[in-house]
Amino acid sequence: MPEPAPNTQSRDPIDPESVISQLCGDSFARWYDDREFRQNILEGQPYFNDLNILDDPNRHSPSGLLNCHRKQFYQKLNSPREKANPDGIFWFGTAFEEQIVLPFIQDLASEVGGYVRKHDWIDYSTEVDNTELRFKGRTDPLIVDSDSVPIVPIEVKTRKSVESLDSPSPKHRAQLHAYIVGLSRKYEIKPPDGVILYGSRETFDVKTFHIEYSEQFWDEVVVPWAATQTTSLLDENLPPADPEQEWECGYCSYRERCGKGKSPVKDSGAHGFVPGYTEYPHENVEEYLRLFPSAAIPSAIASKFPDLASDHSIQEWSCDRCGYCAEWDAVKSAGEPLCPECAEDDILISLSRPEMPTVVPDE
Ligand code: SF4
Repeated sequence: MPEPAPNTQSRDPIDPESVISQLCGDSFARWYDDREFRQNILEGQPYFNDLNILDDPNRHSPSGLLNCHRKQFYQKLNSPREKANPDGIFWFGTAFEEQIVLPFIQDLASEVGGYVRKHDWIDYSTEVDNTELRFKGRTDPLIVDSDSVPIVPIEVKTRKSVESLDSPSPKHRAQLHAYIVGLSRKYEIKPPDGVILYGSRETFDVKTFHIEYSEQFWDEVVVPWAATQTTSLLDENLPPADPEQEWECGYCSYRERCGKGKSPVKDSGAHGFVPGYTEYPHENVEEYLRLFPSAAIPSAIASKFPDLASDHSIQEWSCDRCGYCAEWDAVKSAGEPLCPECAEDDILISLSRPEMPTVVPDE
């Protein structure tokens, strides 16, 4: 075989300044988003790239069961998220499941003559008081028999530490129950026992809990929760704030809207931005405006993200006393600016923040 000819084509010298200027947080964020998008297509799950517009109120994802009703309501109705996604925690969860737990249970399964499947899908409906409740989702790894029939479904979760964990979270138990019921229907088998496996993100210590199917828990706790959630969504009635534990509010992406943050608003509906709250990440504002192109942006957010302001209407600042209105970009501070016309009369009065808008989803 002839030797390949040496590449004699001259190349432009690489400018280190240009490389260094591109090696930054913004370029990483763009690269990471694009990589996730491609990865979802590669893995045959392009639906993860879809924006969640008008999600079916009757459909419940097992991972959302027994969440705070109000948080789930905001999430299903695509309220703008107030915090960035904890992508690092999601990434660790996937890596821990695929690179640590999967090989562990594969070795374990082969010792007992079983096999492992990475995932299975469940999709089934139950009717409660003339309302259809649909449960659809993808399981974590399962130990199966040689016909690929599930023997033990496993739900993998990661936490900072597992040391003080004495029992599984009811939410995780509900999630596994949704899979157990779905697998039992799909394969026409008795509801299999499952395992919830918690791994520590710090030490890799693992704690497991054997979960037996409880008809009472499913029928009296999980299904009624789903029915209440569906009713709230269909009626667009703000449900109660009922987190499993109070500390969850500290990590909630809707705490300002809900009234547990620092904003003066409380018990807000699902649509629009919280007036006066300026900490929305750029990507969340952008995502919300893609979902609801007719939504107006409060002035403070518009001045923070002028690239998003150009294509959308901006809520103006106004004076309740004299009716003075200020364009969004006339007000540079994120606080409450004073009315300049009233100030000329020696009256110091703050311009009003834009009202919480009522925005209906665009068809
Ligand atoms: S802040 Fe707390 S109560 Fe409010 S929606 Fe979030 S989890 Fe629920």
